[in-house]
Amino acid sequence: MEAILEVKHLSKAFGKHQVLRDIDFTVRPGDVTSIIGASGSGKSTLLRCINLLETPSAGEILFHGKDITGRGVNAPAYRTKVGMVFQSFNLFNNMTVLENCMVGQTKVLKKSREEAKANAMKYLKKVGMDPYVHAKPRQISGGQKQRVAIARALAMEPEVLLFDEPTSALDPEMVGEVLSVMRDLADEGMTMLVVTHEMAFARDVSNHVVFMADGVICEEGEPQELFAHPKQDRTREFLSRFM
Ligand code: ADP
Ligand code: MG
Repeated sequence: MEAILEVKHLSKAFGKHQVLRDIDFTVRPGDVTSIIGASGSGKSTLLRCINLLETPSAGEILFHGKDITGRGVNAPAYRTKVGMVFQSFNLFNNMTVLENCMVGQTKVLKKSREEAKANAMKYLKKVGMDPYVHAKPRQISGGQKQRVAIARALAMEPEVLLFDEPTSALDPEMVGEVLSVMRDLADEGMTMLVVTHEMAFARDVSNHVVFMADGVICEEGEPQELFAHPKQDRTREFLSRFM
């Protein structure tokens, strides 16, 4: 199948600090790729490069074959196709749940308010947050906020969703409700790139796992194989922390 995203020889430095080195991987329609690795290994920087929140120092990111890292790329338009869900939700705190899920549609996609509202409701229902449309973010729990953030991203009808540790800021009892929404999306064929420390999710839901260490892809492969038979010492050592 034709690739949606191709990351080629991607490198990123902050000053003299080389954070990503020669990263290569491909995302195809329906892929659920988990990116795992220790804190500081460059996982967020990689996702931020793919979402155009950071500018790569070298290499290319092709979206349907077109390099999106060059000048003249319309970042907001691109981000409607490649959405992102953040660890800290990044909801607009002065807006209701419903408004949070409408604003991108009206501002960027230029949809009418009626259309944006109907679409927002559809996705809020999907994540079980339709009873909370008039709540402000401060009135709902962390797990609920993250479900709204997922609905907001889905309301843009993206081709790919990027998740950066979507459950890491949550109290333990709220992790399950967010993972369950993500699992449903994966089952429906949503293309997802997920940075996570949830090893059960990586093993059971994704079809591809990328292990990063010190800014490089140390090992990647099918989850069953990578978890059961890691080839690199560093992968084995990292995974042993979760056993
Ligand atoms: P991870 O998400 O795997 O924990 P990050 O991508 O957040 O890793 O960070 C990788 C490295 O890049 C870390 O050493 C971090 O301090 C550094 N880094 C990230 N963002 C910046 C920045 N804006 N400026 C300078 N250094 C950064
Ligand atoms: Mg990170």
